Amino acid sequence: MLVCLAALATSAVFLPAQLASPASGVMPRHFRAGAATANITPRLGISINGHFNDRVAKHVHDELHARCLVLDDGLTRLAIVVCDSCMIPREVMDAAKALIQQRTGIPSEGVLISATHTHSAPTCTGVFQSEPDSEYQGFLAARIADGVQRAINHSAPAKIGWGVGREPNQVFNRRWRMRPGAIPPNPFGGTNDLVRMNPPVESPDLIEPAGPTDPEVSVLAVQSQEGRPVALLATYSLHYVGAPGFDISADYFGAFCDRLQQLLGADRLNPPFVAMLANGTSGDINNINFRQKRPPQKPYEQINLVADAVAREAQRVYRELKFQDWVPLGVAQHEITLGVRRPDAAELRRAGEILAKTNGRELRGAEEIYARETVLLKDYPEKVPLIIQTMRIGDLGIAAIPCEVFVEIGLEIKARSPFKPTFTISLANGYNGYLPTPEHHKLGGYETWRARSSYLEVDAAPKIVDTVMELFARWR
Ligand SMILES: [Zn+2]
Repeated sequence: MLVCLAALATSAVFLPAQLASPASGVMPRHFRAGAATANITPRLGISINGHFNDRVAKHVHDELHARCLVLDDGLTRLAIVVCDSCMIPREVMDAAKALIQQRTGIPSEGVLISATHTHSAPTCTGVFQSEPDSEYQGFLAARIADGVQRAINHSAPAKIGWGVGREPNQVFNRRWRMRPGAIPPNPFGGTNDLVRMNPPVESPDLIEPAGPTDPEVSVLAVQSQEGRPVALLATYSLHYVGAPGFDISADYFGAFCDRLQQLLGADRLNPPFVAMLANGTSGDINNINFRQKRPPQKPYEQINLVADAVAREAQRVYRELKFQDWVPLGVAQHEITLGVRRPDAAELRRAGEILAKTNGRELRGAEEIYARETVLLKDYPEKVPLIIQTMRIGDLGIAAIPCEVFVEIGLEIKARSPFKPTFTISLANGYNGYLPTPEHHKLGGYETWRARSSYLEVDAAPKIVDTVMELFARWR
């Protein structure tokens, strides 16, 4: 495993998409595509993550899926998988990719696997007080590979198109500057945070959000040669909406897929139509309007409302797409290593003292929970490897980053990319916590607090963006 990683780290891996242009003299064959889903719903009683305290699943509201799309330009085959999961660690993604390579011949570098970030799915990686179930991790890897294999089984000549819409009403920056005294001390005892995540709605202490939003709904769609909808992959930069606490649910990501299928009149096709909604760059974005309270709602009412709004916009974009019979595909990835913000001796001593008083009971409150995270990070290496991956589909660029990427970073990638349009898929090919910009590290707040969910070096974001740009530049 380590040998393999080291070999990857020495140079970028490129698949020969750029060779497949009419100018190169290589005559492309027909463009082919296939899509399929694999059910990844767990048993009840499994740990649900995304909260400070662990929860166990008591109900399945809606099934979880790995949604898979395979594209083939005659020279390059690539697969994109979006999983209804909060976050999936590198080991599980790599296991799925190894199975895919073994069974289908698609090299691991040609596979992009991401988690949507629903907070109502089984714990796959340890964060706060939720720990993963190894049986589910193995099941998930196998089901992802099954989904890609099924998508290949469905492959047929296809047309492809892409476009960008806007839904500005469902995204809000969740980090706020507040009047003096309205930002509580952080879990490390510091009083130097300059922003507050998820402040009280309609608080008189609100000044302004500490960053922008990205309202774009990016759409990539595939049709059969006869015009039958095959698949639609969208991205939207919204963290999640939120389902009742003990439910398994795909959150608005799954509801979007159902709604879009209905709007496109694509129910019960053969092979079935596959909608996919990946998480864009939403590290600091959520669905709460902090200026105005929402009237009381029934469970899932808000999920359905957001899903409907984003699906209608994706449908509007879909209707206007120009589908092409062939476009060149490319995939490139580079493994980089980034530093870890490890705790120092004084921080470890303080954490040890806080934990000593808890006598092994379930931890309560941020101070105790972050004390445990501090102790766990002591055992992290000084540097960690991350896969940075890019895909090009004709003139469309896709960046894939294994983090909860701040919206500013996604906007920068869109602005600087030579591919127009470009979008980013977060939580892809691994999980390395929040990715704030260096400027946001200075502001502090939840997403910067050191934990297994936020530990990369302060300058991680510019290094990652530069790597994305170097990979894109190889094709331009
Ligand atoms: Zn998150």
